[in-house]
Amino acid sequence: MNWSISEDHKLSGDPAVNLEFTATKKISKGRRIEMPEMHMDNIDTIIIHYTAGSSGLSSARWLSTETVAASAHIVIDRSGQIYQLVPFNRKAWHAGVSEYSGRSRFNDFSIGIELDNAGPLTKVGNRYRSSFNSEYKEEEVLKAIHKDESSARFWHKYTTTQTSVCEMLCSLLISNYGIRFVLGHDEISVGRKIDPGPAFSMDVFRSRLLDQNRPESSSFEEFEGTVTASKLNIRQGPGVANKMVGNPLPSGQQVKVVGERNGWLEVETVIKGWVSKDHVQKHQ
Ligand SMILES: [Zn+2]
Repeated sequence: MNWSISEDHKLSGDPAVNLEFTATKKISKGRRIEMPEMHMDNIDTIIIHYTAGSSGLSSARWLSTETVAASAHIVIDRSGQIYQLVPFNRKAWHAGVSEYSGRSRFNDFSIGIELDNAGPLTKVGNRYRSSFNSEYKEEEVLKAIHKDESSARFWHKYTTTQTSVCEMLCSLLISNYGIRFVLGHDEISVGRKIDPGPAFSMDVFRSRLLDQNRPESSSFEEFEGTVTASKLNIRQGPGVANKMVGNPLPSGQQVKVVGERNGWLEVETVIKGWVSKDHVQKHQ
């Protein structure tokens, strides 16, 4: 994987991301509206969903339809193909009525990722059928109890490729946007939503992502350095998608380096922000 997030908050790189479907305009109360930008300082959460649809392509198409009152930033199909429907800094309609840990209205500050998955299945004879009447083989099915339910039922499994692509994307989003929470839709809309459900190992997924991305504050030793680039952009977070916090730092500027993440340094001068690691020389 060789992705990056551009300054217009779109994923690009290899493997190719499908940007053909856009869900930045929706019909709301009879009027065509443009999805507003989220406040960059506020974006701190990723919400994981399943599509309950028959394919990633059909879900991307449906979610980007203007008259459909739902959308998401990303759809990942079962082969790992990514569709981006909404730039990461714009609001998408994926969370709906939501509340978790004292916060509500998750659409205002979260990035929504939809995984192509049929959801709960019903066993009919020796076949497993989805709500939209597609059939699945036994090896695609997991019998498990949902955290909000008391008995086991059948769930469509996620593919390994799909979950690893999702993890790599989340990792990139965490470093670009300073994401602090990765939650399932069934955690922020308890009783109303059951996705991504027990076939998605949310606890393992979340701890692997957030533990490895914790700022290396405990092991990091601060140091003094000098800017070597003629103009060094200084941003709110480690990644080019983050807003600039002020004018670029001039060559020769002395900085105190207080943190490091993914090739970026957190520096303090008169202002504080993140700069690319390649353009700061450490004092000997
Ligand atoms: Zn959902």
